[in-house]
Amino acid sequence: MPHPVSPHRVHSRAALGRLIVLICVVVTALSLTAVALKHSARGSAPAAAEPEASTVADATADAERPGPTGRAGQTAQATPATSGTGIPVPAQRKPAPPAPPRDPASLGVLVNKDNALDPVDYTPRGLVEVDGEPLRKEAAAALRRLQAAGAKAGYRLVARSGYRSAAYQRRLHARYAAESGEAAADRKSARAGHSEHQTGLAVDVTSSTSPELTRAFGATAAGRWMAAHAQDYGFVLRFPEGQEDVTGYIWEPWHLRYLGPELTRNFARSGAGTLEEYYGRD
Ligand SMILES: [Zn+2]
Repeated sequence: MPHPVSPHRVHSRAALGRLIVLICVVVTALSLTAVALKHSARGSAPAAAEPEASTVADATADAERPGPTGRAGQTAQATPATSGTGIPVPAQRKPAPPAPPRDPASLGVLVNKDNALDPVDYTPRGLVEVDGEPLRKEAAAALRRLQAAGAKAGYRLVARSGYRSAAYQRRLHARYAAESGEAAADRKSARAGHSEHQTGLAVDVTSSTSPELTRAFGATAAGRWMAAHAQDYGFVLRFPEGQEDVTGYIWEPWHLRYLGPELTRNFARSGAGTLEEYYGRD
């Protein structure tokens, strides 16, 4: 037969239970604090070393620039830096690629075999000429500055082809297609709405001593100088060597695309080798 339990005994048992729970909580809190302190002590040394590591990565990217590579910098940035605790440092995390603007007049518009101008018959406004080639006035002014800097370095850079209309591109593509078929025509020329030249922001440039639009220009001193300095004036070499799979075009050391100073800076910082890669479309 069970003993009746006195109310006093029940009360003191409950109090004892609460005391045990309280002690457990305090002990757990103390051990958690100790672990946290240990971790932060360990993490502080590598964290302090972090700026140095990223400086080295940046220096490598600069050294690789402005060759059409930029790959070294990209690799360094693509690996997220971590603090000593293995937690990624937010500032070093690769940001999501920006979306390409839809406005055909935007300096950042993406035009390639997969991305057409909208509308496909878009015509830029306010074209001005450089060496007889029409260009958007921002691009023309930047090209003149690039040419002036080139002249100081001993190179005469000449605009060979600027704005080309949708109608021209359509005729050119149709002529190639009639000669050698659609597939061959697609390899040789862009369809209407798919050529950067239709934006008025692209220009083919070679030198007075190597006027032809051939890869040989890229190997000349003038071609190398232009590749090295184009981005100082807001241009990028749109079809770099070794990026054919991404851009859809063979290496064209003569084809400059004006992005403007801000976007060119962001592009260079991103470490992307092509505009497609910059927009996450590679
Ligand atoms: Zn071109």
